[in-house]
Amino acid sequence: MRVLIVEDDPILLDSLTRAMRAAGYATDQAGDGELALGLLRGGGFDLAILDLGLPRVDGLQVLSRARAAGCRAPVIILTARDGIDDRVRGLDLGADDYLAKPFSLSELEARVRALLRRGQGGAPVLTCGTLSYDTVGRRASVGADMLELSQRELSVLEALLFRQGKVVSKEQLIESLCGYGEEVSANAIEVYVHRLRRKLEPAGVGIRTLRGLGYLMDRM
Ligand code: CA
Repeated sequence: MRVLIVEDDPILLDSLTRAMRAAGYATDQAGDGELALGLLRGGGFDLAILDLGLPRVDGLQVLSRARAAGCRAPVIILTARDGIDDRVRGLDLGADDYLAKPFSLSELEARVRALLRRGQGGAPVLTCGTLSYDTVGRRASVGADMLELSQRELSVLEALLFRQGKVVSKEQLIESLCGYGEEVSANAIEVYVHRLRRKLEPAGVGIRTLRGLGYLMDRM
């Protein structure tokens, strides 16, 4: 899962980035509204955290222009404590949730998880075959057995499981694994998928390769 973090306060940007990475998300950062808008228009994000008070282009403008350009990623806006008008305008312009500053990182993380799983019906545990995946603890198990997965395998599993039954392109997998500046090759993706496929087989879960299109996770 790939998260864009837009915040002009470098200290807050840094702590948000650390928290998101520690929670297992690939992250990209923008310190001003213009950069944020360019990144959001480029697509490829599963979620954005958007501060409203930004240099160059303010956050509400970023939001409305990104939505007008077809950006559908869930957006959490960060507002001032007394920014009720901003919250209302932000929600009306297409934000999915908001947090008033100062907020706790654990609350932000919980809201991020809630928005990301909304596409899967909102349950905190996702299932496929006899595989179950706890989105809070980031643990995969088959029956009573916990699956041992590397961080990268876990990221691939999440990307496929959150879009289960749909084709996920190799580019989407690469994007969900790395922030800009970090490299994951297409060959490496094939290796992670191969390993994951072997581990998921006992759960009756298959990862099909659709040549030229990508991968699809489904019950076998
Ligand atoms: Ca700000």
